[in-house]
Amino acid sequence: MADNEDTKLVTGGRRKEWTHGIVNPPVYRASTCLFDSYAQLRERIADPSAKHLFYGRKGTPTQWALEEALTELEGADGTMLFPSGIAAVTTAILSLVKAGDHILITDSAYEPTRTFANGMLKAMNIETQFYDPLLGADIANLIQPNTSVIVTESPGSLTFEVQDIPAIVAAAKEKGVSTITDNTWATPLFFKPLEHGIDISVEACTKYIGGHSDSMIGSASAKGPAWKKLQRTAFQMGHMVSPDDAFLTSRGLRTLGVRMKTHQENALVVAAWLKKHPMVEKVLHPAFEDCPGHATWARDFKGSCGLFAIVLKEGSYPDTAALVDDMKLFKMGFSWGGYESLILPSDPSNFRTATKWQAPGPLLRLHIGLEDPDDLIADLEAGFDRYTRHVGA
Ligand SMILES: *Cc1c(COP(=O)(O)O)cnc(C)c1O
Repeated sequence: MADNEDTKLVTGGRRKEWTHGIVNPPVYRASTCLFDSYAQLRERIADPSAKHLFYGRKGTPTQWALEEALTELEGADGTMLFPSGIAAVTTAILSLVKAGDHILITDSAYEPTRTFANGMLKAMNIETQFYDPLLGADIANLIQPNTSVIVTESPGSLTFEVQDIPAIVAAAKEKGVSTITDNTWATPLFFKPLEHGIDISVEACTKYIGGHSDSMIGSASAKGPAWKKLQRTAFQMGHMVSPDDAFLTSRGLRTLGVRMKTHQENALVVAAWLKKHPMVEKVLHPAFEDCPGHATWARDFKGSCGLFAIVLKEGSYPDTAALVDDMKLFKMGFSWGGYESLILPSDPSNFRTATKWQAPGPLLRLHIGLEDPDDLIADLEAGFDRYTRHVGA
């Protein structure tokens, strides 16, 4: 097995028995898989989770190749694939809880994660307490006798607080509580949750790992006792990603390293320009000191991606239309992690309960793509001119 990340990205999952000597693991589409004999049927029923053809819902070499590559990158015992990132988040949680439990979820969590906790988990008599993402070791004070899981997301994908994962994991382990992290922002290239003692690392591969805004897919990689629980729950829920989406994601994975380098560099250039803009109150980018948890990021992470936010000095959310409506390169839309730049006004106060969001003006989330950063800055400059004229500053 390769030790260096860029090599792992190229070699991961490309077993000859799956590729048959061609470069890319091909798309094997299947529902029914045919057995050679009754003896083989019996043998495969005995271990349906093994990587042999059994039934389409258990995957084909297309999905196994991606699972294996991600398992290696995450340093996991195994990886399950899902038809979306949120299916990976919810199944990871379900695999570690039962009725009557209490769980802790960071207040900075991705909004659909909150909705799942407040909806389905609540209906299953599982109580969720949201916590301040920056509380670190003090999370110990929130752990109750029936607390089973702590969910972290670092940094939050809207407000970018970097969490002290080692401190949270230490407190969790002390009390026998399991931990999950949504690692979509960092990808396994910039942060490896399992190396820090997290039990399940979730990636919305829809974002950077796929990298081209054309597939919906999630992964959950686990280590230790959490792996079998995750695998069992994903099977019971009937989750499997389509081979086409797995294929696109494997293809995206090969260039993740070079893409992330450029997303990182371009985002740092654009963020530095924004930091000096008179309309910008704060740059919420973990590599900048304005960002809560910046020191934790500097200690634990190997890099930063193309996603960050800015807080404006004045104006309201409706005013931001003047800025975002006529952009040439920055487009407006959900998701991120593709090659293209995006801009999105989003008000965090709609998604918080444990902490209060305070800001003088609206928040804009930016995804910096692979365009030339000078062109992106020119686009933003024109947008800020429109905004400044509109709010009359
Ligand atoms: C997008 C996203 C998800 C969900 O991924 P989908 O594939 O859109 O379901 C989960 N967590 C984070 C942090 C995300 O940004």
